[in-house]
Amino acid sequence: MFPTRLSDGYRAFLDGRFQSEQSRYETLADTGQKPEIMVIGCVDSRVSPEVIFDAAPGELLVVRNVANIVPRYEPDRDSQHGTSAALEFGVQALRVKHIVVLGHARCGGIRAFADDSEPLSPGDFIGRWMSQIAPAAESLGPKPADLEREYLRKLELASVELSLRNLMTFPCVRILVERGKMQIHGAYFGISTGRLLVRDPATGVFEPAVADMPPRAPMFRATAG
Ligand SMILES: [Zn+2]
Repeated sequence: MFPTRLSDGYRAFLDGRFQSEQSRYETLADTGQKPEIMVIGCVDSRVSPEVIFDAAPGELLVVRNVANIVPRYEPDRDSQHGTSAALEFGVQALRVKHIVVLGHARCGGIRAFADDSEPLSPGDFIGRWMSQIAPAAESLGPKPADLEREYLRKLELASVELSLRNLMTFPCVRILVERGKMQIHGAYFGISTGRLLVRDPATGVFEPAVADMPPRAPMFRATAG
C-alpha cells in the first residue's frame, strides 16, 4: 500500500504549494528547466537542499548520494557513474553557473568510513563508495582515540574539500571554472544547530553563511569554524 504519509502530504502539496506555484510549474513544463545552481548533497533525510535553501521548483538541480561525494573523473566504460552523469547533465546541458557540494554534520557515510564498519551486504556498496574519501582521511593523519566528534567533523569538511578537487578533474568543469563562467563552492550544514558554513575560496576556511546565525553546538564553541 502506498504510504498514507505520502498521500496525505501530496494532498497538502496540491492544496497549498501547487496552488500558489501553479503558473511556475506550467511555465517550467512549457519552457523547460533552467536551474542556475546545482547541489551535490547527501542522501541523509535531514539534509534536504530544497528545504535548507527554501528553493522553489526549477531552482536547484540536486543530486544526492551517500556522503555527498564527487568521484574523480573516470571515463571508463565498465562502470556506471550516476553522479558523473548528473554532473554532465548539469554542466553541459543546463549550463549551471554554480555547483555546491553540501556536506553535513553527523554523516553516517563518513562515520562508516572512519569506523571501518562491517559491510551491510555482500556487495559492500557503501564501503567501496566511501573508500573514495581515503585521501581526505590521510590528509588528517591518524584518528585520535578521543575527540571522535571533532575528528568526524574534520573528516566531513575534508571530504567536501576532496569533492571540490575531484570536481576540477572533470574537463567540462575545469574549463568553465577557469574561464570564470562557473563557480564551485563547499558548504556544511550543522543539523542540530541549523548553522550553514560556506567555504571561503581564498582561505579554505568554512565561515558562517550569514551574519546572524544560530550559535555553535557547545562542544565546538572553543574551536575554529
Ligand atoms: Zn551524510
